[in-house]
Amino acid sequence: MIPSPDAPAGAAACYACLADGFPGFCLLLAGDGTVVAASPRTRECFGDITGRRFPLLPATFPATPLAAPVDMAHGARLYRVLTVGPDGLAQAGDAWRTLVLGLDVTDLEMARRQAARRQGQLAAIVENAMEGVVVAVAGRLVYVNSFMERLTGHDAATLCSRPFSGFLHEEDRAGVVANHRKRLAGEPAPAGQTFRIRARNGQVRWVRTVSRLMAWDDVPASVSLLADITDQRQVQVTLDTLIRDQEARIESRTASLRQANATLEAANATLTREIEAHEHTARKLAAARRKALEATKAKSVFLANMSHEIRTPLNVILGMADLLSRPDGQEGLDRGRALAMIREAGTSLRGLLGDLLDLSRGEAGRLALENVAFRPAEVLETVLSRFGPQAAEQGLALAGAIAPDVPMVLTGDPGRLTQVVGNLVANALKFTPSGRVDVTMARAAPRRATAATPGVVGLRVGVRDTGIGIPPEQRRHIFENFRQVDGAGGGGAGLGLAICRRLVGLMGGRIRVSSQPGEGSEFSFTARFGLAREATLEAAAQPVEIPPAPPLDILLAEDSNLSAEMVAAYLVPRGHRLTRAANGREALTALAMGHFEVVLMDIRMPVLDGLAATKAIRRGDVPGCDPAIPILALTAHGARRDRDRILAAGATDYLAKPVSLDALLAALARLVQGEKGAGGHPPPTTGAAGPETPAGQGAEAFDAGRAEALENLGGDTDLYDRLAAVFVRDTPGDRRRLRRAMDDADGPGLVLAAHTLKGNAGVIGASRAARLARDLEMAARDGRAADFPALAAALGEELDRVLAGLADRGIAPAD
Ligand code: ADP
Repeated sequence: MIPSPDAPAGAAACYACLADGFPGFCLLLAGDGTVVAASPRTRECFGDITGRRFPLLPATFPATPLAAPVDMAHGARLYRVLTVGPDGLAQAGDAWRTLVLGLDVTDLEMARRQAARRQGQLAAIVENAMEGVVVAVAGRLVYVNSFMERLTGHDAATLCSRPFSGFLHEEDRAGVVANHRKRLAGEPAPAGQTFRIRARNGQVRWVRTVSRLMAWDDVPASVSLLADITDQRQVQVTLDTLIRDQEARIESRTASLRQANATLEAANATLTREIEAHEHTARKLAAARRKALEATKAKSVFLANMSHEIRTPLNVILGMADLLSRPDGQEGLDRGRALAMIREAGTSLRGLLGDLLDLSRGEAGRLALENVAFRPAEVLETVLSRFGPQAAEQGLALAGAIAPDVPMVLTGDPGRLTQVVGNLVANALKFTPSGRVDVTMARAAPRRATAATPGVVGLRVGVRDTGIGIPPEQRRHIFENFRQVDGAGGGGAGLGLAICRRLVGLMGGRIRVSSQPGEGSEFSFTARFGLAREATLEAAAQPVEIPPAPPLDILLAEDSNLSAEMVAAYLVPRGHRLTRAANGREALTALAMGHFEVVLMDIRMPVLDGLAATKAIRRGDVPGCDPAIPILALTAHGARRDRDRILAAGATDYLAKPVSLDALLAALARLVQGEKGAGGHPPPTTGAAGPETPAGQGAEAFDAGRAEALENLGGDTDLYDRLAAVFVRDTPGDRRRLRRAMDDADGPGLVLAAHTLKGNAGVIGASRAARLARDLEMAARDGRAADFPALAAALGEELDRVLAGLADRGIAPAD
C-alpha cells in the first residue's frame, strides 16, 4: 500500500498494516470521491486508479453515502463494499475522507445462492414427498408437510395447533405418545411404529413411521416419516382373510380328504377281506371239486375193483358148485380141494363184506371199540400164525418182535388191533415179491398228553417189508377210501388202509407210512390202551375158551312172531329144541308142564311180562321147575338202564335186541357153563333202534340198518327175507292193535303194541321205524297222550315206506 503522505504516522501505519493484510481491497478516497490511496490487492484487481473514482461506487457517492455494506458486481465478480466516513478516522487536514473496504464475495454469494437453491429443492422434495414428514416437539407438531395435510384433511396450522395425540386413533394413542416421550428423553425407543390416525372426515388411516431424535431450534424434537399403509393394510387384511378362508377351506378339504381316505382304506380293507374270503371259498370249492372228482374216480375204480373182487370168488363158488352138482363132472374132481376153494372164496367175500360194513359204520360214526383185557403178545402171535402159511407159500420170511417194555396185559379192543395189524401184514405180503416182512411192537415214545394220563399206555406197531414200495406222490392218498397205488396191481378194494386209519384214530393214535420205491415200505401206527392187571385178563379171557353149547331144550317166551322166528332160525339148525310161549303166563305154564334147560325170556310181553315171570320162577312158584334154571333175558335195545332191574329180578344174563346170532350162541355157551356173563360183557352195541341213527334219512337209514340186520343174522339173506316176510305179514295186525289201544286210551296196550313194532322193525333193520316206535312207546309209558297222534302218524308213514320198500324187493307176506 502506498502510505498516504498526509496520514499521521500512527494512522498511516495502521492503514498500511490493514491495507497490506486485508484479503479484499482497501482504498482511501478524497472528499470528491477520487482515490487517494489503494492497497496492492486493489491495484491487482482494478489497476492503478489513484486520482480516479473507484468504479464500484455509484456516481452519487459521496453525495449520497452508502448506508450499509453494498454488494457491487464488477465483471464476473461480486464485491461487498463498505465505506467508512471520515468521522472518527480522518483527521482534519487529511487528504482522504473516506475509507473503502471491499471483499470479493463472489464465491460466498454463489455458495449462498447454492444453499438457498438446495434448501428450496429440499423443501420441495419434502413438500412433494409421497410420505408424511412431521417434526414434533413436546407432544406437538411443529412442522408437517403437505402430504400430512392431504392425509389428515387438516391444514398445517390446525395440525400444529394442538397436541398431536388428538389426531391419533384412541386405541393407539398411549403407545405412540409414550414412544415419543421416551425418544425425546433420550431413552431407547423403537424407531419404527405402525398405528392409526383419524382423518378429519372420520376415516381411519393406517401409517407406518420411522422416527429419529434431532434438535429443532435447539430443543429435542422427533422427526418422523409416515407412510400411508391403509391400502396396503387393507390388502393385507383382505389377504389375511383370504388366507384364513383358504386355510379353513384347505383344512376342511384335508379333513374331508382324510375322511374319504379313511373310508377308502376301510373299504379297501373290507374289499381285501372279501377278496380273501372269496379266494378262500374259491380254494375250498376247487378243493371240494377236486375231492369230488377224485371221489368219483375212486368210486368208479372201487366199483370196477369191487365187481372184480366179488366176481372172482363168486365164479369160483358157482363154478365149483356147478361141478360138484353135475353127475358127469365128478370124475377126477378133487372134492376136498373144490370145497376148500369154495371156502376160500367165501372167506374172501366175507372179508370184503366185513370191510364194507366197517366202512359204512365208520362213515356213520358208529365204529365202536371194545374195552377188554388182552395180551399184546397174543395179538402178534395171532397175526403171525394166521399169515405164516401164506408167507411160507410165497417164500417170504415173516417174523415178529415185541419189546420188553410192552406191558403183558392191556385193555382195549384186541379184535380191532388184530384187524389193523393183520391188514398191514396182508398188504405187506401182497406187495412183497421177495425178501421179508417184520412186525414189531414197542411202547410208543410218550407224548405229553399220554404221559399226563395215568394208566394209559401208547403202543407203536410197525410192519416193514422189502416189497415194491410206494411212490411218494401216492403215499398220502392210500389211506383214503378206495385208493390204490396206480398200476400196483394186487387186487383189493382199496378199503383196508382207510379202515385201519379210522380204527387207529379211534384207538387214539395215528398211522403213517415211509417207503422207498423198489426197496420196501414200513407202515407204523400208534394206539393208546389202558393198563390192566393179569388177573383182569384171566377173568376176561375165560369166556373165549368156552365151547359152543350142546343141543338144548329151550323155552322161548316171546310175543313177537318175528323175533321168535329169528331165534328159531338161529337155534333150530344148531340142534336146539325150541318151544315157544307167547307171554309170561304161557311160559310159566310151559315150564310147569315140560322139561327145559334154558329159558329165553323177552322182557316186555302182554298178560305177564318177562320180569314178573322171572321173579315167579326164582321164587319157586312154578311147580316142577328148577328155580335156578338159567334165564337169558332179551331186552329191547336202548333199555340198558333196565339192566339192573333185569338182573335184580333174577335173570342170569341178558341180550339186547335185535339179537345177533353170535351173541346168542355165546350167551348160551356161557349159560350152560354156569357163568353169569352180564357183569363182564356189555350187550352188543349194534341195533337198529340206536339213537345214533340220524333221523330223516328214510331209505338210506333203512338200507344201512338192513346191512346191520343182515350182519346180525350172520349174513344170511334167506333168513333176512324170511323174517322180512313175517314182518310184512304181522305188521298190519300190530298196527291195528296199536290203533285200538290208542282209541281205547289203553296205555299198557299201547306200550306193548309200540314195543312189538319197535322190536320187529329192529330185526329187519328198519331203523327209523324202530326209533319212532320207541318214541311212541316212551310217550305211552310217560302218559304223554298229546304226543300220540303225531308220533303214531309218523310211525304209520314210515311203516308204509318200509313195507313198500320190502314189496319192491319182492318180499311177500309169510304164510
Ligand atoms: P387194498 O385192499 O387195495 O389192498 P388198502 O387200503 O389196504 O387196499 O391199500 C391201498 C393201496 O396201498 C394198495 O392197493 C397198494 O397199492 C398200496 N399198499 C398198501 N400196502 C402196501 C405195501 N406194503 N407195499 C406197497 N404198496 C402198498
